Amino acid sequence: MLAARQDRRRARRGHRPARRALWSAALVLAMAVGVPALERTGLTDGAGVASAEPRRYPTPGFESGGAPLGAPEPVAVPSASWSAQERGADGEPARWDPCRPVHYVVNPAGMPPGGQEVLDSALERVSRATGLRFVFDGTTDETDRATPYDPHRWGDRWAPALLRWNLPEERGEGHGEGHGAGEQGAGGVVLGRGGPVMARTSSGRAVVVSGTAGVTASALGDLGDPEVRLRVRAVWLHELAHMVGLGHVEDAAQLMNPQFTGVPGFAAGDLTGLAALGTGPCLGEV
Ligand SMILES: [Zn+2]
Repeated sequence: MLAARQDRRRARRGHRPARRALWSAALVLAMAVGVPALERTGLTDGAGVASAEPRRYPTPGFESGGAPLGAPEPVAVPSASWSAQERGADGEPARWDPCRPVHYVVNPAGMPPGGQEVLDSALERVSRATGLRFVFDGTTDETDRATPYDPHRWGDRWAPALLRWNLPEERGEGHGEGHGAGEQGAGGVVLGRGGPVMARTSSGRAVVVSGTAGVTASALGDLGDPEVRLRVRAVWLHELAHMVGLGHVEDAAQLMNPQFTGVPGFAAGDLTGLAALGTGPCLGEV
């Protein structure tokens, strides 16, 4: 079957006991692995095969060139303290095709004054760390990326990644439904969610084809406060890193710890992982 499905079992595998955030006693900063991956099987098998069924994936290789569009910045202090959000049957981390741009759209609802600058700064940082090129496709009113191939809306290509500011406020415990967010707890407010949407090729490779990242702007505070601005940028960095394929680590010195520990930006392990995710052959088979 080529039907996309939500794989919550996989998304919940990263359950971690919650810890108190150090930055604020009042607000536990729980960041969650976001959207469950949509998986496909036999993706390349069906390409070009005539069928009465509507295709569930675009023509492979849209915009994929013969070489990576960029290169990750050199990693000053390599570290093993990172994890891949997902790996294919070949053992390789799921990653975006480095040889085509990463298109994204923004749902600006709830974006506070100064938000655009913070988001642009975070995107630029992730781009430098991975070598991936982000291309802004405009604003949207979408709130999820449940259908990564929607030709009526986006044409014959994967839907652009969706970034949003208006995640509904929720506590870290008890919601239990959707988004695979199992690791937060202690009654903390969930400040962000992010994750890749993946396709799996018949050769067992996992390729990120779309994704989501978002923050709960209503729980973040006034961006006029420099400390808040730094924290919001850190939340975006964390969620965008999920979107490009980085998973959580227990190491509290890394931004990819599931709880905010006061790390304002990417640390050595985060950067090593982001560079790895941005390095490799073109993935034009999806
Ligand atoms: Zn996370």
